[in-house]
Amino acid sequence: MVGLDDIRAAQDRIGGLVRRTPVKPSASLSDLLDVPVWLKCEHRQLTGAFKLRGASNAVARLGKVAGVTTASTGNHGRALAHAARHRGLPAVICVSSLVPRNKLDAIAELGAEARVIGASQDQAFDEARRLQRDEGFALIPPFDHADVIAGQGTLGLEILDQIPDAGAIAVPLSGGGLLAGVAAAAKALRPDIRIIGISMERGAAMAASLAAGHPVEVAEVETLADSLGGGIGLTNRLSFPMVRDLMDDLILLTEGEIAAGIRHLAQADGEMVEGAGAVGAGAALAGRLRAGGPLVLILSGGNIDPAAHAAILEGGA
Ligand SMILES: *Cc1c(COP(=O)(O)O)cnc(C)c1O
Repeated sequence: MVGLDDIRAAQDRIGGLVRRTPVKPSASLSDLLDVPVWLKCEHRQLTGAFKLRGASNAVARLGKVAGVTTASTGNHGRALAHAARHRGLPAVICVSSLVPRNKLDAIAELGAEARVIGASQDQAFDEARRLQRDEGFALIPPFDHADVIAGQGTLGLEILDQIPDAGAIAVPLSGGGLLAGVAAAAKALRPDIRIIGISMERGAAMAASLAAGHPVEVAEVETLADSLGGGIGLTNRLSFPMVRDLMDDLILLTEGEIAAGIRHLAQADGEMVEGAGAVGAGAALAGRLRAGGPLVLILSGGNIDPAAHAAILEGGA
C-alpha cells in the first residue's frame, strides 16, 4: 500500500514539475446541495489532467532505461510523454483505436510516438509489455503502480491544504490510481473525511470488480467519460485493494447525467471539462451526491474535442 510518507516524498520530488491548481467555489452547486461546493481545477494542470503528477513521480524515480512506454486511454500517455521529454527520454505510447484523435495529436506534439494497437486497452498493453521485454523500455502503467499512486496522492495533500475543512471529496474513478492516492493522503490527515468514487454506468471495470470481490474484465463501450474506460488489469495488485479499503461510496452515472455535468460546468462555472472530469458535477445535479460538510469535486481533466464539447452544450450527447 502507498502511505502518507510516500505521497509527501512525491510532493517534494514533483513540486517543480507540476502546477498547483486552483480551487474555486461553485455558487450554483453550493445552493443546490446546501453545503459549500468547491471545484478543484485539475483540468488546468499542465497536459490538461492530474495524470502528470503520477507520471512525473514515476519517471523521476527511474534509473537508466532506453525509454518509457505505457498503454493509456490518452491522458496518462500524454502525461508520460511530457515527463519523458523533461528527462530527455524517448516515449512510445500504445493506445487503442477508441482513443480520440485530439489525444493522439497531443501525444505527437509532445515528441512521443503514439502507436495505435487494436480495439482495447488490453491489446495496447501487450505491445507496451513487448517493448519492456525486448527493447529495454520502462513500462509505467496508468494506475496500478506505487509511484504513480503516490504522485496522484499529491492532489489529496493539495486539496486539504486549500480546503482544510473539506467533509468529502468526489473522485472520478477508473483504474483507481487517483482515488487510491487521494484517499491515502486525505484519510491519513483526516480519518473522518469521506471519499466518493464516481464512474459511468456502462463499462465500469472497478465497479464490476468490487462487486465480484476480485478484478474482472468488462466489455469496453464508448462513453462520454472516455478517460474512465478500460480495464483495471486482472493482475491488479495495488489500486484495486486500496479503492476497496478506502472508498466510502460509489456512484454510477448515465451518459445523460455526465453530459449534464459537462454542460453545467461550462455554462454555470465557465470551465471546459471532459466527461471524466465532469462526473462530480453530474452526480451533484442528479441529486446523487450528499455531503455533511464542504464538498470538493475533482475536475480531473479538460482534454475534450472542442467540437464534441460544443455539441454537448447544444444538448446532443
Ligand atoms: C485517468 C483519468 C481518471 C481516472 O483515474 P484512475 O486513476 O484511472 O481512476 C479520471 N479523470 C481523468 C480526466 C483521467 O484522465
